Amino acid sequence: MSETQKGDLTDSERRILQVISAGDVQEAAELLANNNIRINCLDEHGMTPLMHAAYKGDSEMCRLLLQHGADVNCNQHEFGYTALMFAGLSGKTDITSMMLDAGAETDQVNSVGRTAAQMAAFVGQHDCVTVINNFFSPARLEYFTRPQGLEREPKLPPRLAGPLHKIIMTTNLNPVKIVLLVRENPVLVDAGALQRCSQVMDLLCEQCVKQQDMNEVLAMKMHYISCVLQKCVSFLHRRDDKLDTLVKSLLRGRDSDGFPQYQEKFIRDCIRKFPYCEATLLQQLVSSFAAVEIGNDPTAFSVLNQALTGQMALVDADYCATCGERGADKKCSLCKAVLYCSLVCQKLHWFTHKRMCGSLQEQDADLEEDTPTLKQLKDDESDLVMETASFLQELCLRAEEKVAAAGGCPVELLTCPSNSTQRPTCRD
Ligand SMILES: [Zn+2]
Ligand SMILES: [Zn+2]
Repeated sequence: MSETQKGDLTDSERRILQVISAGDVQEAAELLANNNIRINCLDEHGMTPLMHAAYKGDSEMCRLLLQHGADVNCNQHEFGYTALMFAGLSGKTDITSMMLDAGAETDQVNSVGRTAAQMAAFVGQHDCVTVINNFFSPARLEYFTRPQGLEREPKLPPRLAGPLHKIIMTTNLNPVKIVLLVRENPVLVDAGALQRCSQVMDLLCEQCVKQQDMNEVLAMKMHYISCVLQKCVSFLHRRDDKLDTLVKSLLRGRDSDGFPQYQEKFIRDCIRKFPYCEATLLQQLVSSFAAVEIGNDPTAFSVLNQALTGQMALVDADYCATCGERGADKKCSLCKAVLYCSLVCQKLHWFTHKRMCGSLQEQDADLEEDTPTLKQLKDDESDLVMETASFLQELCLRAEEKVAAAGGCPVELLTCPSNSTQRPTCRD
């Protein structure tokens, strides 16, 4: 491919930029098929077709351009923006993932030294920040599958790389979920294999702390996963061959209120054992639960989860009571108070839930008999939550436009209206 100069475009290259801004994927495909278009040509601002498509938030167009060999790390833009930065600014998580999968570098900075994640955070696109911060290139793991230096054998047997990468990429950090991910893969249900995985995770944690642009979030995630794997190892040594006892320990609720205190203590312990005690994130996490009595909010999990994924736990959300997966749509048919993502998860939970199920049924009956309006109120409340959420989303979109137009600070445009008891209204 020949060198491209800013603004030095042929007619068909100008045409494709117009087609991209119009969002006509079909015509773009035809143009690319029938014309000699340099896929990384630059407009007068140094933007490639891929950057335009990413900024526009057009995932089909991005896919097409990548298929035609668009360079995801091109950075001839006048302010040093990359396609990943434009994807983050667009707020589209699918495009952000697509850029990362195509090899976008996360540590490239623009002309004022900001990374794509920092730029996305600046305009309030926190889902994109989560995607970027949790991305982990398979290549970084594959490195450990080759013997380095004087090693006779690699630190990580190649057959373990795929299953371990899947665990690293999970955004559901519920320890039960991680144990289930281990359990679903027979090559991992082995103390020796898990021990090696855990050691590699520790090395990755160290890399994240010591790299130039220190990533405490990813380091904490690596450390936490390593701790869960280590816990699996110790249970496998105790002849818990299918990790059933570990899952039960994590789920078992205490007698008084069903709160899973082993799980809480385990997560607190993992966090405290983070080996780099000067890390700000560690201090933040520990101080946020230090004074909290076990069983009260916030739980160590909610604190950890928010720090690592940027996602706030929603009170009314549909989390599976066993594995924490979102979108759980199966209710305990007796108490109707607990949700599960699958029958497997319900079965796993029953041994401990059965002790609480009766009293939850009574509570439910009390609600219906004595105060029929209370339940109604709960539903209305959740409607309000939904409305507020979509209102906020709309605000974000508008803020983004305004920010793009005016270059102002987005924070003031994102003030949360959730304390208002009235239906949120749009002022224009
Ligand atoms: Zn589940
Ligand atoms: Zn129940």
